[in-house]
Amino acid sequence: MGEPVYAKMAVVGCGLIGSSVIRAAREAGVVGEIAVAETSAPARERIVALGLADAVFGDAVEAVRDADLVVFAVPVMSMAAAAKAAAPGLKAGATVTDVGSVKEHVADALTAALPDSVFVVPGHPIAGTEQSGPDAGFAELFQNRWTILTPQAREDEPYRDAVARLARFWTALGARVEEMDPKHHDLVLAITSHLPHLIAYNIVGTAADLEGVAEAEVMKYSAGGFRDFTRIAASDPTMWRDVFLTNKDAVLEVLGRFTEDLQALSRAIRWGEGDKLFDLFSRTREIRRGIVAMGQESAEPNFGRDRGKH
Ligand code: NAP
Repeated sequence: MGEPVYAKMAVVGCGLIGSSVIRAAREAGVVGEIAVAETSAPARERIVALGLADAVFGDAVEAVRDADLVVFAVPVMSMAAAAKAAAPGLKAGATVTDVGSVKEHVADALTAALPDSVFVVPGHPIAGTEQSGPDAGFAELFQNRWTILTPQAREDEPYRDAVARLARFWTALGARVEEMDPKHHDLVLAITSHLPHLIAYNIVGTAADLEGVAEAEVMKYSAGGFRDFTRIAASDPTMWRDVFLTNKDAVLEVLGRFTEDLQALSRAIRWGEGDKLFDLFSRTREIRRGIVAMGQESAEPNFGRDRGKH
C-alpha cells in the first residue's frame, strides 16, 4: 500500500471506468476519502450496494466539495455539462482530470467550464472493455496500460507539480503514463481505436442486412473471423456516438485513407492481382506480429479478461 496521493477524490460518473479508477485507487491506497456523483439512479443504488464510495450524490457540487482530485468519467459529450454542474463546489488548488476517449474537445470543454483556481489536466487511460456500468469495473484494468495525459501548454511550477502528482496517481494504479498534445492524441486514437470500432459496427450492420444469409448462420459460423473481429461492436452506443462526433476531423482523415486502401484492394481482387494481395498480406502479417510482440512487452500480464483498448 502506498501513501495517499490525494486526501479526497471525487469521481463524477461512476460506470466502467469511474468505478475501475475507484477500485484501483483503493487497492493502491492512494486516496483517502472517496465521493461519487452519478446521475443514474440505478447506478447510484449499485454503487452503494457495492460499497464503492464513502458518499454517493446525484449532485456533482456536493461530491466535489473539498476534493483534491476530481475525475470526470462521463461520456465525452456530457463532460461540459458535468463540469459546469461541479464548478461551484470545487476547491481552489484542486486537480481536475477526466478519462474521456477524445482529448481536444474535452480539454476545451473543461477549460471553458472550470474556474482558473483549479488545475485542469485532461487524461485518457487506454484500457477498457465493451461493458458499461459500475458492476463492470475492476481494479486491474489499468495494469500495464498506457494513460495519456494532455496537459495545458503552461510551464509554471504549481501546474507542473499538479501534472506530476496526477502522473504519480496513475502510476500507482499500475498504468504507464505519457504526455501528449491533445490533437496528436486524437489522431493516434483515431487509427488505433476509433476506426476499428467504426469498422466493427459497420460489418455487423452489413451482415445483418445481407440478403440470402440468415442471422442464425452468421452466429453459427462466426468463428471464421466474425466473432473475434466484432467483439467491440457490442461497446456502449452513447460513448461511441460521442467519440465519433467529437473526433470528427481525425476520424474522417483516417477513414479517407482507409477507404482509398480498401479500393486498391478491391481492384486487386477484381483483376486477379494475386501478387499484390500476397505482398500486402505478407507485409501486414509482419507488422501485426511486431505489434503483438510490442504489446506483450508493454501490456503483460493479461488478467484473462475479454478486454479492448479504447
Ligand atoms: P459508462 O459505464 O456508461 O459510465 C458513465 C456513467 O456516467 C453512467 O452511469 C452515466 O449515467 C453517468 N453520467 C452521465 N452523465 C453524467 C453527469 N453529467 N454527471 C454524473 N454522471 C453522469 O461509461 P464508461 O465506459 O465508464 O465511459 C466513461 C468515459 O470513459 C467516457 O468518456 C469514455 O470515452 C471513456 N473511456 C471509456 C473506455 C471504455 O472502454 N468504456 C475506455 C477509456 C475511456 P447514465 O447512464 O444515466 O447516462
